[in-house]
Amino acid sequence: MAVPFYRHALSPACSDRVAAVLASPFLTSGPQGVRVEEKLRGFFGVQHAKLTSSWTQGAIATLLALDIGPGDEVIVPAMTFAATANVVRLVGATPVFVDVDPATLLIDHRLVAEAVTPRTRAVIPVHLYGQMVDIPALRKAIPASVRIIEDAAHCFEGKRNGRRPGQDGDAAIFSFYATKNVTCGEGGAVITNDPDLAAALVQTVLHGMSAGAAQRFQGGTYRHWDIARLGTKANLPDLLAVLLEPQIDGIEAQLARRERLCARYEAELANTPFTWPIIEAGVVSARHLFPIHVPDGQRDAVLQALGQAGIGATVNYRSVPCLTLYRTSGAIPDLPVSRRWGEGTLSLPLFPDLRDEEQDEVIAVLRAQALAINPPETMRRAEPALV
Ligand SMILES: *Cc1c(COP(=O)(O)O)cnc(C)c1O
Repeated sequence: MAVPFYRHALSPACSDRVAAVLASPFLTSGPQGVRVEEKLRGFFGVQHAKLTSSWTQGAIATLLALDIGPGDEVIVPAMTFAATANVVRLVGATPVFVDVDPATLLIDHRLVAEAVTPRTRAVIPVHLYGQMVDIPALRKAIPASVRIIEDAAHCFEGKRNGRRPGQDGDAAIFSFYATKNVTCGEGGAVITNDPDLAAALVQTVLHGMSAGAAQRFQGGTYRHWDIARLGTKANLPDLLAVLLEPQIDGIEAQLARRERLCARYEAELANTPFTWPIIEAGVVSARHLFPIHVPDGQRDAVLQALGQAGIGATVNYRSVPCLTLYRTSGAIPDLPVSRRWGEGTLSLPLFPDLRDEEQDEVIAVLRAQALAINPPETMRRAEPALV
């Protein structure tokens, strides 16, 4: 039985929602997006929300809005998706990589504090796999002038000590990419409680223009616009925004299903050589991915066995400073926790309607692989006799 890595849960009924947008005058950012932004403000308990065309564009718009650019440094974890570092490069600033905690794989606050220099403008902690970084603790570890931009691409539903993304950082950025917990194919959002950042973002998501399309035509009379700062093109069209609302309404049920699947993986893989990050007390993980670590350089063999069985698996992630672009551009220190995790990790199928029999198949292949890596005691004891 083939088991996909991910199967989206958008139903054909969504086409009615898209049809309603097609029947309206507004295809790009308009009233539907405004409704979703309202919903995001309510869900996260923050003052401002801006839908964007992706996490990447939202992050570029945020960095531009904070005037972060050439000569500035931004601290990022080595264990993340490359986009977290790429956006820093794309605005002309320098990403400074730090290693992660070996138990949680979240950015190590102590190493962040050590990496701060007079050029440091921001840090981008990543709520990896759905577990939130302790933002108040990170805040205490660094100078007040350093902005905290949360990479919440994995963490729409997550909480730590009752606090959600965006409540304690300067901004949090989400991704609604095709395989994320909430998706509209491609999309994202930036939330913040900072009124100055919010006002600048309105411009940096739209070329730097002083008025969006909806405002330019308000009242039926053309209004002139100006550009006072550089912006990118990061707005989300209503055609896509309209897909998000029902998913936000049903989010707790979807999280409960993924939580159950994760608990099953953890129980069934408990006595194998495979390991996975711990989830700390006080954390509700958004359970975006279920990564395991395969020891003894056997990761690619396990990936191959899963592939041959028709099971979708991916790698999240190889350590970013180990990728060719970063390895060959400047002296980057070895960050061993991220490197070793990246050399051994793979992610298993995880999505709300993964069926039990599909998950059983994944578990069966992994248990067989575990035996190959770690022969049972009887075989081990027999070994010396064979020599
Ligand atoms: C998916 C992802 C991104 C990029 O999101 P896009 O919407 O594709 O730009 C950034 N950071 C992390 C951790 C991600 O998983």
